[in-house]
Amino acid sequence: MAFIRVALYLHVPFCVKKCPYCDFYSLPHVPSEEEEKTYLHALKTEVLYLKDFVEKLSGTEIKITTFYAGGGTPSLLSHGFYQELFEFLSSQFKFTPVELTLEANPDTLTPEKIKGFLKTGFNRLSLGVQSLSKKGLKTLQRTYNLKTALKALETAASLFPNLSIDFIFGWKGQGLKTLEEEIKKALSFSPTHLSFYELTLEHETPFSAFSPNKPVELFYQFIEHTLESQGYLRYEISNYARPGFECKHNLFYWEVKPYVGLGPSAVSRMANLRWQNPKDLKIYIETLLTEKKLPLTPLELLKPLDFAKEYVFMGLRLKKGINLRNLTAKFGYYLDPWLLKNLIEKGLIERKGNRVSLTSHGTLFHNQVVKLLWETLGKD
Ligand code: SF4
Repeated sequence: MAFIRVALYLHVPFCVKKCPYCDFYSLPHVPSEEEEKTYLHALKTEVLYLKDFVEKLSGTEIKITTFYAGGGTPSLLSHGFYQELFEFLSSQFKFTPVELTLEANPDTLTPEKIKGFLKTGFNRLSLGVQSLSKKGLKTLQRTYNLKTALKALETAASLFPNLSIDFIFGWKGQGLKTLEEEIKKALSFSPTHLSFYELTLEHETPFSAFSPNKPVELFYQFIEHTLESQGYLRYEISNYARPGFECKHNLFYWEVKPYVGLGPSAVSRMANLRWQNPKDLKIYIETLLTEKKLPLTPLELLKPLDFAKEYVFMGLRLKKGINLRNLTAKFGYYLDPWLLKNLIEKGLIERKGNRVSLTSHGTLFHNQVVKLLWETLGKD
């Protein structure tokens, strides 16, 4: 049987507490040993059902190329949990991931825990410090202080050669001087990768009333300039890496390749189907263990237009942009040449041969540019 390369995501729906700006599905709850076991049991059941479903759907065997534990707070779980999950995945799939990422929060890490995660096979740690300023950590209502964040970074950097550090910027009261100091502290740990996400005001979070510290463009420019001068390339709107250390797992999403998600709220896209698991741990577990079926809600059938739209949306997040020839050859659509010319004249996009990408200025208007391009997508 032929095989298909797939990125595998695991959602860990537990956090020490819920952060006010967070829109990801997670419960403010530290799981007991028993709850960890139940969750693992449900995941194994999901894997069994999925294997059957996905292999029938694609007519191929699955080869897991990357593994990413995100959340929530994956570092809340024990390394024994991951050990058992990896053994099970190896018994069901070609489980040969080149990259295994664990998202972690500073106050859930001890040297012993990090060593345990390394032993299970994780080879990339993504540490969500979010800020390296006392004021930033307080404003973002993180559960740890600066000392804990720096200690976790020191330990992680000494044990994980492939380390990513996640930041949130644009919080109220953050100026360029503070941002500069935060970046300087982060770079002293020589990470291979850095992410900078703008504080977005999700409508249903308590932070909606806050106004971020504008202007955002200055922050973006400052981050890009500072990191590029230190050898990090901005390869995606919010992500920077030393050459060769781009996140292979996330590239599956941005390059519209197949991925499968395990756990509540996780999304999957295989062949021409997309589905999402329920954003509810209880329903997720009950559907698998009591009703003995996959919790696919909803199951969407994707048309070529959906793929073309996803390719434009995701591809324009990448520095390299999209390939116009691929858009037509793979999905049967093309972009309106008149609109492209207009967007180039406005300094929002640039074109090199068949490649179209956003300019630095254009990245600030990603959603608006994509919306215009979507409206004028033509069928070949
Ligand atoms: S720790 Fe991360 S996932 Fe959990 S609530 Fe806070 S931001 Fe969301």
